[in-house]
Order: sequence, then C-alpha cells, then structure tokens
Amino acid sequence: MAYIAGVELGGTTCIAAIAELRQPTKIIANFETDTEARPQETLSSLTKFLQEKRTSLGIASYEAIGIASFGPVDLCRSSPTYGFITTTPKEPWRNTDIVGFFKREFGDSTPIGFDTDVNAPAMAELAKIEHDPADPPTVVYITVGTGVGVGAAVCGKPLHGLLHLEGGHTMVPPLDGDSYPGGCGFNHGYCVEGMVHSKAIAARAKVSQRELHTLTDDHEVWEKAGYYLGVLCLNVTYLLSPHVIVLGGGILKRRVLFSKARRWFKDLMKGYLEVEKFKTEDGLASYIRGSIFGDSTGIIGALELARKEVCNRN
Ligand SMILES: [Zn+2]
Repeated sequence: MAYIAGVELGGTTCIAAIAELRQPTKIIANFETDTEARPQETLSSLTKFLQEKRTSLGIASYEAIGIASFGPVDLCRSSPTYGFITTTPKEPWRNTDIVGFFKREFGDSTPIGFDTDVNAPAMAELAKIEHDPADPPTVVYITVGTGVGVGAAVCGKPLHGLLHLEGGHTMVPPLDGDSYPGGCGFNHGYCVEGMVHSKAIAARAKVSQRELHTLTDDHEVWEKAGYYLGVLCLNVTYLLSPHVIVLGGGILKRRVLFSKARRWFKDLMKGYLEVEKFKTEDGLASYIRGSIFGDSTGIIGALELARKEVCNRN
C-alpha cells in the first residue's frame, strides 16, 4: 500500500495527517498541535507523529509529503530560501526553514510539495471538479479569519509569481456609512483584510473576537462584512476569471455571509458579465460557495500537494 502525508501549518493550529495515495481526501490518521511553541518543537512533534505512523503502517517511506503553510513563504525553487516561512508577523516563525526540516527528517528521497495554506485548498477543490485533463478549471480559495488569504489554482497549477497572491491586502472602497478606519496590521487603511478580519468585525460590533458567535445574523456588522467579501469576489472574478470561488475560514462559519457576499457581488457588477450562473440564486450559490471538505480543507489541501508531487515525479 502507498501512503502520503500532509502537514498544515496554520496561524494557530498545525495538523499532520496520512492518507492512502489512491484516496487522498480520506484521512486515516491525524495529529494536531498549536503554533504557540517554538517552531522547532512544533515541527518536531509533527514529524514524530508521521515517523511513528510510518513504522506502524510498516512502510519504509511516504510516497510524498505535502506542506501547506501560512505565509509569507518562499515558493521559488531556485531561491536559497525556498521552503522558508519568511517575513511573517508571527515572530518566532520568521525565516524558518520548513522544507529543509522535513528533508532532514525524511531524507532527500521523499518528495516534498510546499505551498501556501490558501493555494493548497484551491488545488484540492480543483481535483474534485470534473474536467478535461487538458483544460483544468481555475479555482480561487478565500479564507477569512484573523487574516484574509486568497489562493488560486490556474491551469491546474497553484498560482505563484514574484511571490504569491496577497489578495487579502487589495484595496476596497469603504461601504457608505461604514466609519471603521480599517484594522490591517500594516496600516493599509481600506484593505479587505483590515475591513473584514475577525478583529475588524469585533471592533465594529464592540465585542471581543471570542464573542463574535453571540451576535445574531441580523446584526449590521454582517451586512458590512458581506459587502467587503462581495467586492473581493468581484475583483477576483475580474482579475482571474475563476470557474468557482470557495470561501472558508472561521468567519465564514457565519453562513449568512455567503448570501450577502453573493448579493453584493451581483449588485456591484451591474450585469457587466454575461454569465448564465450569475443570473440566478442557485447559479451564484454554485459560483461562490463553501468548501466541499468543510473544516478539513486545509489539511486535505496539504495531502493534495503530496499527491500532485507523486504525479509530477511519475
Ligand atoms: Zn492590509
């Protein structure tokens, strides 16, 4: 039997998981820890779990390991700092060599896929959409929680470039009557993240971030959040022309945000794009939707990176 491993490094939680290569979305064992410890301790506990499981499965090695990490990360394979978390505000994790750590633990012969924690879910969603292998669809994944991240799979590949997408910091026009000045840690003013991350929503509603779940669905703050998400979905549509936009992250547990984001998306577009599915509620619900993997989208994304790594080697 052939197995792959996935590792999700999130801002607060880290997960390692194992699946059969032929069933990459079916997790057979997993382990969770947090990122509060020093990076070396966190990474060691994840690799220890994977090594113990490797022994109990009776295999010499995993076919590949996929790592989906919070960023910023260096994705340029020719760079001396490829596989590093680079300038993150999460100070202990700054300039941490993630891929190098796993290479040392598992050897050079185990292929390692590495990407952002938003590109990986986009890849996992793409793998589940029926398509002509010669013409893969474009999928955008947006997460909204303590930050806002945007990932994309374009032409069947995660979208990289000079760095990687930083769509959470794209600028948005403030909604009429919204006096909130923006809460982005980089003082961007009206960037999407600063207007809609959990801190911004909590500040407007005058509750702590832990109390956000106590707000009712008809609280005005959700209408504002829905507007900014609608703007982001529209900008992403104009820029990348995705076939589907998947929304995830803690804030999207507030399901009413989906219908609000869709409505703002449609209202702000003003009929400009002649797309059949943009004309009906059902169509829009298939265009801007939640992840088919629910809360597991990040770790399943990591497993998909591993699966792709195996495909690329064969
Ligand atoms: Zn910003």
